[in-house]
Amino acid sequence: MALLQISEPGTARTPRQRRCAVGIDLGTTHSLIATIRNGAPEALRDTDDTPLLPSVVRYSPDGQTRVGCVAQADALRDPQNTMISVKRLMGRSTADLDPNDAHLAPYDLVDRSGMVHIRTVAGLKNPVEISAEILSALRARAQRVLDEMPTDAVITVPAYFDDAQRQATKDAARLAGLHVLRLLNEPTAAAIAYGLEQGAQGQYVIYDLGGGTFDVSILHLRRGVFEVRATGGDTALGGDDVDRWLFQEVSAKTGIEVRAPEDIRRLFDAVRRAKEKLSVDDEAQIDLVLSSGARCAASLSEAELAGRVQPLIARTLDLTRRALRDAQISVQEVQGVVLVGGATRMRAVRRAIEAFFKQPPLAGIDPDQVVALGAAIQADRLAGNPRGAQDDWLLLDVIPLSLGVETMGGLVEKIIPRNSTIPVARAQAFTTFKDGQTALAIHVVQGERERVTDCRSLARFELRGIPPMAAGAARIRVTYQVDADGLLSVSARETHSGVEASICVKPSYGLSADEITRMLEESVRSARMDQNERAARELHIEAERLIDATETALACDAELCTEAEREKIEAALRAARAAVADVNAERNALNTALDALKGATDAFAARRMDKHIRAALAGRSVDDLT
Ligand code: ADP
Ligand code: MG
Repeated sequence: MALLQISEPGTARTPRQRRCAVGIDLGTTHSLIATIRNGAPEALRDTDDTPLLPSVVRYSPDGQTRVGCVAQADALRDPQNTMISVKRLMGRSTADLDPNDAHLAPYDLVDRSGMVHIRTVAGLKNPVEISAEILSALRARAQRVLDEMPTDAVITVPAYFDDAQRQATKDAARLAGLHVLRLLNEPTAAAIAYGLEQGAQGQYVIYDLGGGTFDVSILHLRRGVFEVRATGGDTALGGDDVDRWLFQEVSAKTGIEVRAPEDIRRLFDAVRRAKEKLSVDDEAQIDLVLSSGARCAASLSEAELAGRVQPLIARTLDLTRRALRDAQISVQEVQGVVLVGGATRMRAVRRAIEAFFKQPPLAGIDPDQVVALGAAIQADRLAGNPRGAQDDWLLLDVIPLSLGVETMGGLVEKIIPRNSTIPVARAQAFTTFKDGQTALAIHVVQGERERVTDCRSLARFELRGIPPMAAGAARIRVTYQVDADGLLSVSARETHSGVEASICVKPSYGLSADEITRMLEESVRSARMDQNERAARELHIEAERLIDATETALACDAELCTEAEREKIEAALRAARAAVADVNAERNALNTALDALKGATDAFAARRMDKHIRAALAGRSVDDLT
């Protein structure tokens, strides 16, 4: 069944209105939620509480689920039902787990449908559900603070997270009623919080020492686009180790062996507080009366702490050296070092980093909050809230090939042109071809060519149940929507009857960069325009869009073309602008100008696409690229 197009190619953009979008750092130890308030990113807190929500969920026999500090307090008393560090289990089966991981010791783990589950008093729980509890708690907090339930969120994930881990994170968000605008790499979020994308291009190191994990990432910034060049780290190294050493130190100093779970918890709290105090003061006291009545008192100095953490610091610097080597850059080439994670507050860590990089690290923003704040900035921008000149920010997010629909005669009607910034939604109206036609086949294709056979088929689906009408009477609105992660969904709706059908497809990621380049080259070689009025109007729109896209591309990725190429592109741009401005111009003149512009930008576009796809795919597993 063919499609017959009847209406103008009316393009509809989603309306822009200010929306509340949040940034969420879903951490191993702590999670935070932040948003833009009064023009600045802010981590949200309950009353006078800290913005850090312990990433702990407890299932109780009474059917209650507790999240955060209240759950954390139960960790020692009821370890089997108190879920800590669940982030380590995201997107994993038991076969993927390290059997020596101390965090997993209390749990009864089982696999169900390839995913690890934990047996609790409340039944089997999987990491996605548990993470959803944390996200829901953050969402509820945002509602209390903002008086508005946020639905759109940017959620951060470690740069090394593979597709299964990312998908699990997205699923957790969906369970919590959140629409994920984007999963953002944690190091990139930290860099955004410091506004690095607006500054000098170069190599940046993001050093993230949290409670239980150390992550180091080398980011390459070029014209506002971050590329993850290398990642490294240790999933069993962090501030919590320091607490264990100090715990032993205090036991040794006082000669008291602390046994009762409640005492252990209190002493751990006390040494953690002492450790945190030593980030500012030179001395800290521990003074506890244990349940046995014995007094456990000791004093710790910053110098002692510094001595204790030396091995930890040395290990992190080893891993940093290795990551620099993987990225093939030297310490001297590092433009800046960003500190992330509460444990980077330790002065010994800061001193060591400054000595290693021979420059003071960026530490002006609270290292606990920096990831969430960066995510909030990104969320605000993705929600379409304009920010003046920075609106074109992070051009990484463009679709590499046009998305279209098959129309009569095996031709392709482009619905979303290539290089459109995502997220984007476009709709177009179609109608039935025959009298009494009750179904409509919709064939979604990708590519620049005019004939379906020359494009790549992405999906086919049918809209059924259209009430029988005369040919041309039905009004079928086909909407293409590409979300911020590059996922395309297509829906079709007959507007008289309200009959609907939709489908989700994955564009672009299914294609290799080479394939995309080849298809683009073919499209330029074979670009031929129809000789009718409508084509002329479309040509005009297309020309404006291409001029726009080229200007933006030149501004953002200038370094990807040579001086000679740039001159050629600029000349072609001038000619195209003149042709668009001249209302009396022959369509052929515009056509020629446009072809010349496409020809001039083709190699450049291919290089950009190659680079951006590589960046977009960084951290994705090969399995995803089928
Ligand atoms: P994660 O990213 O793993 O959730 P965080 O970034 O929240 O972890 O870091 C938590 C760690 O930071 C804990 O070990 C905590 O004790 C430590 N920490 C927090 N504040 C300080 C401080 N002022 N001085 C030293 N360590 C701190
Ligand atoms: Mg963290």
